[in-house]
Formats: sequence, structure tokens, C-alpha cells
Amino acid sequence: MTGSILIVGAGIAGLSAGCYGQMNGYQTQIFEQGHNPGGLCTSWKRKVYTIDGCIHWLVGSAPNGPLHQIWLELGAIQGRSFFNHDTFMRVEGDGSRAFVVYTDADRLEQHMKEIAPEDEETIETFVDAIRTCARYELPVGAAFESRSFKDGLNMVGRLPLLKMMAKWGRISVRDFATRFRNPFLSEAFATVFGDINNFPMAGMIMTLAWLHNRAAGYPIGGSLEFARAIERRYLGLGGEIHYDSRVEKILVENDSAVGIRLVNGQEYRGDVVISAADGHSTIFNMLGARYMDDEVRSRYDRLPIFPPLLYVALGVTRTFDDFPASVVGVSFPLRKPIMIDNKILIRLTAQVYNFDPFLAHHGRTVVRVMLMSNYERWSLLAQSPDEYNTEKERVAEQVIAALEQRFPGISDQIEMSDVATPMTFEHYTGNWNGSFEGWLLTVDTFGKNVSKTLPGLDNFYMIGQWVNPGGGVPPAAMDGRSIIQLLRHKDKAKFLSSQP
Ligand SMILES: Cc1cc2nc3c(=O)[nH]c(=O)nc-3n(C[C@H](O)[C@H](O)[C@H](O)COP(=O)(O)OP(=O)(O)OC[C@H]3O[C@@H](n4cnc5c(N)ncnc54)[C@H](O)[C@@H]3O)c2cc1C
Repeated sequence: MTGSILIVGAGIAGLSAGCYGQMNGYQTQIFEQGHNPGGLCTSWKRKVYTIDGCIHWLVGSAPNGPLHQIWLELGAIQGRSFFNHDTFMRVEGDGSRAFVVYTDADRLEQHMKEIAPEDEETIETFVDAIRTCARYELPVGAAFESRSFKDGLNMVGRLPLLKMMAKWGRISVRDFATRFRNPFLSEAFATVFGDINNFPMAGMIMTLAWLHNRAAGYPIGGSLEFARAIERRYLGLGGEIHYDSRVEKILVENDSAVGIRLVNGQEYRGDVVISAADGHSTIFNMLGARYMDDEVRSRYDRLPIFPPLLYVALGVTRTFDDFPASVVGVSFPLRKPIMIDNKILIRLTAQVYNFDPFLAHHGRTVVRVMLMSNYERWSLLAQSPDEYNTEKERVAEQVIAALEQRFPGISDQIEMSDVATPMTFEHYTGNWNGSFEGWLLTVDTFGKNVSKTLPGLDNFYMIGQWVNPGGGVPPAAMDGRSIIQLLRHKDKAKFLSSQP
């Protein structure tokens, strides 16, 4: 029988495992290297601005549905308002041309047909897939081992969706974009998710289906407030979090996890250890690479990861009242290209947070640019603090020069600028090479499961984005729940859940 559980990491996965562990009568403790809950799901303050560092869309934000139920159980959404965008992204071309990715499927279809009547058939195939997907809920089942007959039946009911997703999972967004004969639509379509190599159409279709259902809103107040609500729920259930407590080693006796050791030498013992922290450091550092086979090794040798980011946030004394808000922002061409990370950029995507009044008050707005970056380059730069800081300043200057082309006058309205680099993400979250969502979602990884156990090691589990290709806040929360279901199943006890 499991009595006590030690959890490494207070990101969403770790907090969720802690909450469900407490709901089921286990004595849990979470060890977090940083000072805050949430991990990647975070926000930070600069001057009078709050910079949100995570959630653009939270699947399960709308009432009903199994995922919404999880957020209620975790106390994450009670009393929280969500902003449901009408637009996912706006891709501007030369002059006044724009491809607006509306979240309403009918409006999107009409708009695409106006841009490209010659592509009617391809447009209908795409939008019909969104509509079909929107008829199904996200499959939030029990842990595989503890699935009931009813869970099995639910899966059978979803077979048409799974079949459809298998088909769309094999086509990348960039490849699908080439099917449009209209050159503007083809180019603009590839820009949506296009900076991620081989991103599967299934990922885009599912996202647009949730947004069409208005079931994936942005939580007003930002991501840290969202994580703090789950932390409160955990503490209310009697859980214990140790902050500033970096785990150095997972203690193992007779091939069974028995505890953890912190960098300050303190040791804690428990019946089960769950790592909700970075996968690479869990396997290679905390466990000294002793529990792995060819599959685990080749995953870390071969699989692509979400690249680290340059995350540039600006505090602007401007309100952008008439600027249409969208989930990920506006992509616009640059008449004068800029150079960042030794790459020439001819287009930039900017997010204008004019839809969250909590991030900036009194005529101010946060504008943010998120760029896929290069870990090795920033890791080298970080060896010289002067060079590192100079390069950060240069990045901010380049971004401002680009924004000036789309929002004339903005350079004079900036009163705060903040540049987070791949090193920032690595420092604050411990994620391998600064990756912002773990394993990249590609046509090769879509739908693939990663084991939550390691070969030859008992009483040990991994949860979170490093065992769910594509990452995301919902899979992290779902993992925390299903790992506790698994433990209850092993203990031959009923899984319990409740709402605050
Ligand atoms: C810019 C950005 C935008 C995003 N947008 C969305 C979105 O719109 N929707 C969505 O669903 N998802 C989004 N995500 C992804 C989502 O944030 C992550 O996939 C998810 O939060 C991962 O949660 P996790 O608990 O698995 O891992 P993490 O958040 O990485 O948590 C791991 C925790 O473990 C701690 N830790 C690491 N090593 C140790 C150690 N040795 N000892 C103790 N503690 C340790 C870390 O400090 C961290 O707190 C976004 C992420 C980013 C960065």
C-alpha cells in the first residue's frame, strides 16, 4: 500500500499529482527548485506591467466536459473569467490584404473562400475537419491500467475522430498549405504554426475546434494567478510544498525509488517518487542514467524538442483600442528586415495584450514578441555577462524597430522592455536546453505515447510535458490525475476526487 509520495517539481503536473494524491488520502510533499508554483505556467512583473509567460488558450475553460471537471477539482477556474477570442491569428500581406484565422468555423470558411474562390474544395476539406473534431470532447480517460468497461465504450464512440486524427496527423501544416492554388492564401496558411517544422495538421485542427466551441479561453489575470489557485487548492488539502529545494538525486535501493536528496544534502523518504520535472535531468542526472534502455536513449538522442525562445515583452503607453485581439497575435511583413540570432527576419508576429486589463492599467498595454531561438548560441553568450546583456539589448532594439513599421510611433511610447532568453527558461524551469514545451509535436510524434515508468525501476513515475509529446497545461494536469488513479488501482482502492 502506498502511504507517502514525494513529487519533484511544482509545475502544473506536480501540483495536480499533489492535489489528487491528497484527495486520495496519500501524504504528499512537493519539492520545487524555484520560489513560485507553476513552472512554465507563469507570469512576472516588470515596473507596473505584468508579463504573461504562458497560456494563450486553455483547453477545458468552458463549462461541461471532462477537462473542465479537472480544472474545477484543482480549484483552478472557480471565479476566473476567460477571454474567448474571435480570431486565432491575423496574417497580414502587402497592402491591406490579410488572412484572418477566425475561431468561428463558418466565418473562417466564408473568409477563406472570399480570398481564394479557386480553392473552394481544399477550404471545405479543412473546415469540415474542424467541424467534425468540434463534435467530440477531448478524451480524458482514466489511466490505461485502471480503465473500466465504460471507459472502453467511450473510446469506441470516439473511433471516427481517432481515425480522422490519424489521417490529419500525417500531414504537416506546411505541406497542406501547398494545396492552396491561391499564392497569398498558401503562403499565409503556412505562416500559422509554420515556424514549427513538420507541425501536424491534426494539432491545428484540434486547436481550432476547441476555439470554435469557445472551450479554450485565455484566463484573465494571467498564468501565475492560474497556477497559484492550484497551489492554494493543494495547500488546502493538507499538502506541503518545499520551495528553493532543488532535487539532486532520486534515492534508489534494490531497484526501487525510496526517496530524494536535495542539493543542500537533506534527504526525504517516501513510498513512491514522482518526477514532474524535466525529463532529461530526471533520467540522466537525478537517476545517473542507470535506468534506461535503447528506446529511452534514442528518444533523447533523436527526437526533436520545442526550441527555446527569445521572449521579448514591451510595456507601452498606448491602449490599442481598435486593434483586433487574437489568440497568438498579428503576423506582419517587414519592409526593412531585422536580424536576430544571426537570422534575417522578413516577418514578425506580435501579441498585443489589450484583452487583459490586469496586465497593465491606465492607458498602458503589454506587447510581446516570441521567437524560436538557439540554445547553443545563448549558452555561449552567457559565458560573458557583458556580451549576453549587450545582445539582449540589441534584440530588444531590433524588435522595436520592426514594431515601429507596423505601429508607427511605438518606439517613443515604450517605458519597459524585458528579454527572456533560452538561458532564462533553463534557469527558472530546469527544462532541457531551455525547451518551452518538451518534445516537438510533429507528424512523427503525433499520437505517440511515452512510458511514465523507466525500465527496471520500481515505485517511480514520470509525468508532465516530457512524457506527452506536444506538452501543454491540460496534459500536465491530466497526468497528475491519472498517475494517482494508477496508484489507487495498484492499491485496489477506489479513486476519489472532489471540488473545493
Ligand atoms: C511561452 C509559452 C506559451 C505556452 N502556451 C501554452 C498554451 O497556450 N496552452 C497550453 O496548454 N500550454 C502552453 N504552454 C506549455 C505549458 O506551459 C507546458 O507544457 C506545461 O506548463 C508543462 O508543465 P509541467 O508541469 O509538465 O512542466 P514544468 O512547467 O516545466 O514544471 C516543472 C517544474 O519542475 C521544477 N524542477 C525542475 N527540476 C527540478 C529539480 N531538480 N528539483 C526541484 N524542482 C525542479 C521546475 O522549476 C518546474 O517548476 C506554453 C509554454 C510557454 C513557455
